[in-house]
Amino acid sequence: MLTVNRVTKKYGKNVACKEVSFTLEPGSLTVLLGPNGAGKSTIIKSIIGFLKYEGEITVNGYLNKTSEARRIMGYIPELPALYPNLTVIEHMEFIARAYKMTNYKERIEMLLEKFELSDKKKKFGDELSKGMQQKLNLCIGLLPDPDIILMDEPLLGLDPHAIKELKNYIEELRQAGKTMLISTHIIDSVDMLWDRTVIMQNGEVRANVSRTEIESAGKTLEDQFFLVTEGISPSSVKAPAEGEASEGNAENGSGESAFEAKTSGADAKGADK
Ligand code: ADP
Repeated sequence: MLTVNRVTKKYGKNVACKEVSFTLEPGSLTVLLGPNGAGKSTIIKSIIGFLKYEGEITVNGYLNKTSEARRIMGYIPELPALYPNLTVIEHMEFIARAYKMTNYKERIEMLLEKFELSDKKKKFGDELSKGMQQKLNLCIGLLPDPDIILMDEPLLGLDPHAIKELKNYIEELRQAGKTMLISTHIIDSVDMLWDRTVIMQNGEVRANVSRTEIESAGKTLEDQFFLVTEGISPSSVKAPAEGEASEGNAENGSGESAFEAKTSGADAKGADK
């Protein structure tokens, strides 16, 4: 289990994440949803141990920056960090050796095949198109076969075929029992099977609900997202009669979103009551 406990990250005066808490249950897929600038990358980089922050993050009981924790986490950054003077295959072999992997050749072949890079093995990092760089970025992150996988906006820059492949692979990873946190600001991209969503806005967690809770409240993820981030529910908004004020205002006056207010208790099923 991965636990994020009251994590606050400030860049100067800018609070990128404020008292963020959530847990990733073993074998679950959590979607980290939020508009640009919500703090998604910041919390992911905090989890993987790249940033200093206030609060605590543990992985199976170990602090996230310990070698025990790092060994079981894999990170796929939003922007690929490739070496211009290494080829595709050299990138993969470099990572395999860095992780002291044995018998990695077959896994490298499998991943390059899956992400259509088999015929690009001898291309250098700076010879790859943006989409190919993103695919290699995925292959590198997935190569060590980590138990906990953190993906920051993994679909960005991919062509439709690669998006489909990645979604299929995410489902394979889910079935293999991996724990995953996948961030996105594109709600339409979340059509894979997910278990929980953490919705962030302005550095704060605005909702943390399971798929079952959302579905038993008769809502869609899109409903939840707009309810939380804008205070409106698209499927329940009806055009106001002339002269009638709309209830679906972005600001609800309390500074608390309607959804958060309704689901802050233990039972989210009563959300619409
Ligand atoms: P998201 O991933 O949801 O788009 P980020 O975590 O990248 O959001 O950013 C959250 C906030 O932190 C934004 O206001 C952003 O401008 C700020 N921020 C992110 N990285 C840095 C940085 N390296 N220096 C200063 N501010 C940053």
